[in-house]
Amino acid sequence: MDAKLFDHSHTIRASLLSGVSLFSTAVSACLALFYLIQLDSILTGAIHLVFCAYSLHIYFLAKKNQHTERNVRNFVYLIILIITYGNACLPLDNYNLLWITLCPLLMYALLDRRHGFYASIAIFVLQLCILGYRVFHVGDHSVAGLLVNLISSYCTVWLISHIYEGNRRDVEQTLSSLASRDALTSTHNRLALTTAFGHFERHRHDESLSLLIIDLDFFKSINDRYGHDVGDKVLIETSQLIMQIVGDDNLYRIGGEEFCVTLFNQSVDHAETVGERIRHLVASNPYVYNDQHIHLTLSVGICSYQPGHHLGDLLRMADKELYRAKESGRNQVRLCSVPKEELPTTTVSPQQEAHL
Ligand code: GH3
Ligand code: MG
Ligand code: MG
Repeated sequence: MDAKLFDHSHTIRASLLSGVSLFSTAVSACLALFYLIQLDSILTGAIHLVFCAYSLHIYFLAKKNQHTERNVRNFVYLIILIITYGNACLPLDNYNLLWITLCPLLMYALLDRRHGFYASIAIFVLQLCILGYRVFHVGDHSVAGLLVNLISSYCTVWLISHIYEGNRRDVEQTLSSLASRDALTSTHNRLALTTAFGHFERHRHDESLSLLIIDLDFFKSINDRYGHDVGDKVLIETSQLIMQIVGDDNLYRIGGEEFCVTLFNQSVDHAETVGERIRHLVASNPYVYNDQHIHLTLSVGICSYQPGHHLGDLLRMADKELYRAKESGRNQVRLCSVPKEELPTTTVSPQQEAHL
């Protein structure tokens, strides 16, 4: 989930894409006019016109943040084709080759590391073929020096881009993880829950959401009796048990010994079953530390999202049910009291089914 919700690369790439596509729209429009009017070269002019239209299309998509990875890849490979066409057809003194050395930078900046690598290889091989053809078949030996220069400068820029993008991605993932994960249990934290709910509100109106709040029973007495270190181990083991049932993506630690589980596109009956499975698994789990056997139970409050609810409303409603579970003796699951016919009864998604 971190990758999806804290993906700053996407934001950076979207703004870079809009800048590059606007620039290429302007350049290809000028080139199209130049070739059509000045040089009377209909084919080259038409190619630039097509590229101009596609660049403009990509610009509007990027501006509205509606572009897909496929759009970006198509755009990049079209740039490669245009540059290759230029180098294949035009005399080499037109400085087209200068642009080639910039390509790895652009490819890694617009695509991810893997696709940046593939695109850089594609350009490299194409240019080598063109120049090699000119040297060995056409006998244009003046190109040989150019070939050596191209290979060395291109490989230098390529290597720098590859190393830089790899490190940038690693740093981004580390920072995302630090921002979205709990330091003790490595589950997602409250910030991640807020981000996931915001994403749900914006993009998944047609889906349902059940929210479970889980609170360990008499946890303070475990700390008091066995020590804080053992309490920490119990928290870690419990989070791993819950994760076995709901998966890493759906579990959040939202307080000291309080966890939250999000179940998207699940019926409320199913959420109740999940709550019961968690309760049963923890109650029957043998927590053993330094030959000390600890018995732990937990209580669960569940509520369902209704249109217009904010995250705070959901947490409050689930917390109310949790309080009722505590009041009624703990070690139980309580469901919010909205009549069942008003609650969503959507089916289980295949991904979540795999977890449950
Ligand atoms: P209840 O059944 O009513 O929930 O009782 P409880 O004892 O679990 O509830 P209470 O809120 O009184 O105690 C929560 C305890 O959780 C208090 C605090 O010492 C402990 N706690 C909170 N965060 C941590 C943590 O990170 N590590 C450890 N070991 N204990 C923690
Ligand atoms: Mg508590
Ligand atoms: Mg508690």
